[in-house]
Amino acid sequence: MDLREEEEKEVVVVGGGICGLATALALHRRGISSTVLERADSLRATGVAIGIFTNGWRALDQLGVGTKLRQTAIPIQAFRDISLDKGSQREIPFGKGELRCLKRSDLIQTLANDLPLDTIRFRSQLIAVKFDPVTSYPLLQLHDGSVIKAKVVIGCDGVNSIVAELLRLKPTKLCSTYGVRGFTNYRDGHGLSSEFVRVRRDHLIMGRIPIDDKTVYWFVGRPWNPQDSNVSKDLELIRQSTLESVQGFPEEMVGMIQSSELESLTLTRLRYRAPWDILLGSFRKGTVTVAGDAMHVMGPFLGQGGSAGLEDAVVLARCLAQELSMVGLMPEAERVGAALDRYVKERRMRVTWLSTQTYLTGMLLETSSLPMKLLIIVLLIVLFGNSFGHTRYDCGHL
Ligand SMILES: Cc1cc2nc3c(=O)[nH]c(=O)nc-3n(C[C@H](O)[C@H](O)[C@H](O)COP(=O)(O)OP(=O)(O)OC[C@H]3O[C@@H](n4cnc5c(N)ncnc54)[C@H](O)[C@@H]3O)c2cc1C
Repeated sequence: MDLREEEEKEVVVVGGGICGLATALALHRRGISSTVLERADSLRATGVAIGIFTNGWRALDQLGVGTKLRQTAIPIQAFRDISLDKGSQREIPFGKGELRCLKRSDLIQTLANDLPLDTIRFRSQLIAVKFDPVTSYPLLQLHDGSVIKAKVVIGCDGVNSIVAELLRLKPTKLCSTYGVRGFTNYRDGHGLSSEFVRVRRDHLIMGRIPIDDKTVYWFVGRPWNPQDSNVSKDLELIRQSTLESVQGFPEEMVGMIQSSELESLTLTRLRYRAPWDILLGSFRKGTVTVAGDAMHVMGPFLGQGGSAGLEDAVVLARCLAQELSMVGLMPEAERVGAALDRYVKERRMRVTWLSTQTYLTGMLLETSSLPMKLLIIVLLIVLFGNSFGHTRYDCGHL
């Protein structure tokens, strides 16, 4: 590594997605300044929208942005699950629980707006990390040849995390499903009920959630096939192939795809970190750790990946702030190490359970074998009796 332009920083967050920005904001709220390295040249909000349940809203409230964000999205009152195979439907009212669907751009922008100026450094792509042989602090090498020596590094760099590689975490795995997501805007209002509606048939799933009175977010999950690599580059092809796959679905939902905003469409091959890799993974090395998808990417089957990243941010900042406030008891690097160990301990079981429930829910969609389906249903009932129980989780005060 070339050390010519070495620069020193206290805390470096790698990645300016939902989790990286939330982590920087949580640290800022606890009086710890950080630098966010983001490889893109501006804030990016890939993936259209994001459903946030009670647990995510609790984390956003701790970050001080919950009230502002609630103004951008209507509350969803119930979940309606329709099976076209069985011709059945069930409705689950949310009762005291909270679900709202946020535009990702609103979430990203709101988190970023509350950060001090110059916290985010764009066009800063991390290409390698190693430890300084003298101080044992991490050295970050960026694509432009510059090197940053940081006291703490938090990898929020997503599914192909370079920081996770340093921790020797097993690579993330590909799901056999892909997700198409989009918005549909209705100039005179959509007139839909404030429900999260999910329709299933064979291995295909489509959901829609209103964001506000005029905009609806929808997604389709279906098995991946090799032609999809070409489709993903052409927005009109994404729309056409999605329309073909949902033939026979309720007209209202098919029409939503037909009239969707073309530029909003994204097609993503889904990835996950296996629950057993999360249970056994080593998430801290020296003063380096990971959070968000870099730690626990999971399929979107529970809509919890982003909220889990928000929870990580709150817990991580709390652990660091508490440990660093105990001045003089231990050398700083050891205190940071102790804080990161507490963070990992607190998060490990939470994200293992979340990813297990997500994994089983995804397998239920993907498998064709009846005995396997029955086994998964039994496991889901035994392990997760209440399918929305995970949304009641409280990550605690910042
Ligand atoms: C189809 C689908 C639907 C979903 N729906 C929901 C939902 O309803 N609710 C929910 O809570 N979650 C949902 N999720 C999950 C959620 O989108 C993710 O968990 C969340 O966006 C992860 O945020 P992150 O900040 O950890 O990672 P990312 O959003 O991937 O951000 C990583 C950032 O790091 C940057 N970066 C990467 N490498 C480097 C590098 N080397 N140097 C510098 N910068 C780098 C990237 O440019 C990016 O900005 C869904 C996911 C999918 C795929």
